[in-house]
Order: sequence, then structure tokens, then C-alpha cells
Amino acid sequence: METINNNVSAGGGPASGGKKITQKHAGCIGCGTCVALCPKFWEMVEGEMKARPIGGKKNEAGDYELEVKESEIGCNKDAEEACPVQVIHIEK
Ligand code: SF4
Repeated sequence: METINNNVSAGGGPASGGKKITQKHAGCIGCGTCVALCPKFWEMVEGEMKARPIGGKKNEAGDYELEVKESEIGCNKDAEEACPVQVIHIEK
């Protein structure tokens, strides 16, 4: 199991307008679309052929979660819509 550095500040929780992005990591087919559309927030995991949100942390279910500011949703929304297996979900 890899460890992920979670020192990145989420920039405020839901109370300050944050939104949670969840990626059902196991379902990712590693197509790279999210990384291409939103490279500031998505990266490929080396040796895994799957993507993950940069600075995101894995929850108990093995999914990645990342909290972003409302103003940062932008290309993440594009990634959510373009993901061919619809494993990216942005909290409404
Ligand atoms: S767009 Fe979806 S399937 Fe493709 S790499 Fe990103 S999360 Fe994985």
C-alpha cells in the first residue's frame, strides 16, 4: 500500500463552500481523460494504470476523496462528465 501525503490543505470544509470530489478508484480504467482535462487536480498513479485526484485521500471503501473550493470545481466538472466509466462524482 502506498502512502499519500495529505498535507495539502483542502482550503476550507463544506461550511466555507467546499465540495467533495469522490473517485471510485477501483472502477477507473486509466483512460487518462481526467488528467488531460484537469491536470492541476488529477494524476495517473504510477504502476497502477489508474488516475486519482492530486492530494486526495483514500477512504475505507478504497475510493479517493478530495475537497476543493467551489471556485475550483471548473475542470473537475469536465472530468466528471467526460469519464467514460463515470467513477468521478462531485458533491452537489
Ligand atoms: S476519466 Fe475516469 S476512467 Fe479515465 S482515468 Fe479518469 S477516473 Fe479513470
